[in-house]
Amino acid sequence: MACKRIGETRQDMASCYQNQEPYFSFGVIADIQYADRDDGLSGWRTMRYYRQSCLHLRSAIEQWNAEVTLPKFVLQLGDIIDGSNNRLFTSQKSLDAVLNEIKNANMPFHHIWGNHEFYNFNRDYLRDTKLNTTWMQDKLQDSENEASHGGSPDGYDYYAYHFSPCTKFRFILIDTYDLSVLGRSKDCPVLQESVAFLDGGYLTNSNGSDERHLQEFNGGMGREQLAWLDNVLTYSDQNNERVIIAGHIPIHPAAKRSYCLAWNYDDILKVIRSHECVVCYLAGHDHSGGYYLDSHGIHHITMEGVIESPPGTNAFGTVYVYEDFMVLRGSGRVKERLLPYRRHTQKRDDCFKCSCSSTTGEEG
Ligand SMILES: [Zn+2]
Repeated sequence: MACKRIGETRQDMASCYQNQEPYFSFGVIADIQYADRDDGLSGWRTMRYYRQSCLHLRSAIEQWNAEVTLPKFVLQLGDIIDGSNNRLFTSQKSLDAVLNEIKNANMPFHHIWGNHEFYNFNRDYLRDTKLNTTWMQDKLQDSENEASHGGSPDGYDYYAYHFSPCTKFRFILIDTYDLSVLGRSKDCPVLQESVAFLDGGYLTNSNGSDERHLQEFNGGMGREQLAWLDNVLTYSDQNNERVIIAGHIPIHPAAKRSYCLAWNYDDILKVIRSHECVVCYLAGHDHSGGYYLDSHGIHHITMEGVIESPPGTNAFGTVYVYEDFMVLRGSGRVKERLLPYRRHTQKRDDCFKCSCSSTTGEEG
């Protein structure tokens, strides 16, 4: 059989998984950024289709509902409405519009918060909306040290949780605006830390490298959340789980095309790479999308943004989860990709051997 390119599927690859049943599937979509306004150029000189984005969401839901086996859930990776709704005084109206579309989905949505959520609402407000999906979280059964994200006496909290839709698989939603100058009240202790980050006084990426990602529209993960993530990943390692992590901002410099990168991406990568269980990181934020297989075998997927998808296209995906790999079936601007796991604890079938024997390289 012809050798296959990791991270991107080709026609002959279909034979590899056509006879296998996936354990389950899930949908993924990013940067809907709906607003009831005319199309227009962004500050990056890219065209945005503000009204069309809600129709793209509707089309994606119709296609997920029509799957023979329903996706178990959808990951909505943040920026569900556009920041311009704030100055147009249409924030709640636009949020209601997209949530009304989501009501038609026959599966639950897990929501992540991006910068555009914070252009429209503060954290206290968001916590009381349907964009707070922590009610679907799992608690670790044998860990007493699971940090709470529900709030602490000093007013600090973050929006992150995990869940296991199927034995041996866990999804972790992280808050990449935990460190942020957006959405934080003036008396929040991490606000000062965040301001210092932007001022260059607290650089953990201080290796002389490009620091242009230190922008207000990006953010990072604070120490408490990193410790919480480390704890959950330790549990997954011990229980032989495969873990998919999702956040709004890309965390690998090669998985995006612009300055869209988490402030302390190297701190986050360090935690994630210290655990064998992590197989994939899903992000949005950079509407051009991106993909990178890092040196640890972790797939970094940046989803193309719905908001920059013209009429007649779209940007969403359905991920089919198998024993040894996942397949991202993209729609519209999102490519189809084969995503082998970095670690194989079970015997692989003969067909798959030919494609995953070369997973240790890096690909841009
Ligand atoms: Zn964003």
